[in-house]
Amino acid sequence: MLPLGNGSPAAQGVSISVTAHLTEMYVAKLKLPRLNFRWLVLGCYFPDGLGLSKLLQLTTGSSIFHRDILFGWTHSMPACGLAGLIVGAIFGRRAGWSFAFAALAHTVMDLGDPLGEKLFFPFSDSKFGLGLWPWSDTGIAADLLAYYTSPVSLLVEAVCLVLAIYACKRMTGSYNALRATIDLWKRERWLDHAPAPGGGKVGTLPMPQEQGSS
Ligand SMILES: [Zn+2]
Repeated sequence: MLPLGNGSPAAQGVSISVTAHLTEMYVAKLKLPRLNFRWLVLGCYFPDGLGLSKLLQLTTGSSIFHRDILFGWTHSMPACGLAGLIVGAIFGRRAGWSFAFAALAHTVMDLGDPLGEKLFFPFSDSKFGLGLWPWSDTGIAADLLAYYTSPVSLLVEAVCLVLAIYACKRMTGSYNALRATIDLWKRERWLDHAPAPGGGKVGTLPMPQEQGSS
């Protein structure tokens, strides 16, 4: 991992994977079925302010909101852990673990891009990142073009897409990620002690294969 120096609002690129953050939720739920899918979704988008940082990027043409102003601190491991603790204290341990796991997974995946993250904020303002693919500081369109024409980022996107579809199919029997997302969401409850739909045990996830269809 490369330290990128102290945080500054200089970086203007987007350069992040669109598919990766979706994939994290599906693969986490497939491999760790006791995690709560609803809190995985919220935790996964906590570092980006539940989508607000993207909206600000698109409307201002700048990514300073993603990693510096407003949502720089949310891409730090202490912040993700603390947010998970708060969620856990209010909604239960399962919710807290799910939220923290997803937020940290988002932060780890973002390390691949060139913008860098304040991983140890508030203890340090230094940014870290791997810079695996190029980026452009001449606007979002140019940056997206740089991202989607880089072999490394294209490979990451392809692998994530395959993993996401595979996980959706395993968990719900459907290749349709949108349908699978709605299905997985409906199976959950916000609170640990709330009964799962249909009277099932909270945290269990019946696999299509277990029901006789492979
Ligand atoms: Zn992010």
